[in-house]
Amino acid sequence: MRRALLICALLLAVPAAADAQATGGTAPVQTPGVTGGNTAGRPFRIPPVIRAFSASPRSVVWGGAATALRFRVDAVNLRAVRVVLSVQRRGTRTVRRVSLGRVPTGRSVTRRWTRAGVAPGVQLLTLRVVDSRGRPLARAARATLTVRVRPRRKPAPAPAPAPAPAASGVFPVRGPHTFGDGFGVDRGDHKHNGVDIAAASGTPLVSPRRGTVLATGYGAGSGYYVVVRDAERDHAYVFFHLLAGSTIVREGQAVDAGQRIGSVGSTGHSTGPHLHFELWAGGWWSGGHAIDPLPYLRAWS
Ligand SMILES: [Zn+2]
Repeated sequence: MRRALLICALLLAVPAAADAQATGGTAPVQTPGVTGGNTAGRPFRIPPVIRAFSASPRSVVWGGAATALRFRVDAVNLRAVRVVLSVQRRGTRTVRRVSLGRVPTGRSVTRRWTRAGVAPGVQLLTLRVVDSRGRPLARAARATLTVRVRPRRKPAPAPAPAPAPAASGVFPVRGPHTFGDGFGVDRGDHKHNGVDIAAASGTPLVSPRRGTVLATGYGAGSGYYVVVRDAERDHAYVFFHLLAGSTIVREGQAVDAGQRIGSVGSTGHSTGPHLHFELWAGGWWSGGHAIDPLPYLRAWS
């Protein structure tokens, strides 16, 4: 998806600047911020320049605080310019484009970026000033950002976990993990129906409580999935994006709390290894509804 485009404005500027020098005292002095004309009377433009582009902090935990993008655009006779960020995970070809909107020129600006949809890994960030049709107007500026998966610190004695909604249970991801998008997060055409828990591919997944396997299978969005119905309460636990071939339970099988059902993967609609975990009350689909599993997950971790 990357296109190398010729920056025509730059090519125009060079001969024009040379003309201006050749005519000596009569030509205006060429300084950044000034538009001049060449000898044919055609205006030329000095392309905008992106300066001091940085992403801070340079290393973040997946699902953690937003990244501050700092930069400055100097441009001739333009008070604001359109800026687009391209994000490419090192070693992959997928590029996400994030519009940063119009930014004022001639001074440092900071834009908060939530990194929505960005998976763990080293991310190559490319900043471009573009015209109204998305064509680059300036040389791109680059920076890198490391998004890492790290075990949560010993959970600080949680702010009184919601009045014990959860009976005893086992945290479904048995290994280092971090929380990503939560329940109800806006996904454009739908609300996020569960909680994302990032962990290394292959990390064991277990049933949080004793129950029965209600369903296993594969869906385009969910990837490989497993659903477990709680033996004691009217709850169902839904696991998405399992590693291909890792499902080790079958429909109708009884499982214990802590019993392995499969492994963390990234199958289906997923940008990196994580468990998408849902908790349904009153039945899975048939008459039931998903509720926020976070209080339960916290109680189990
Ligand atoms: Zn999810």
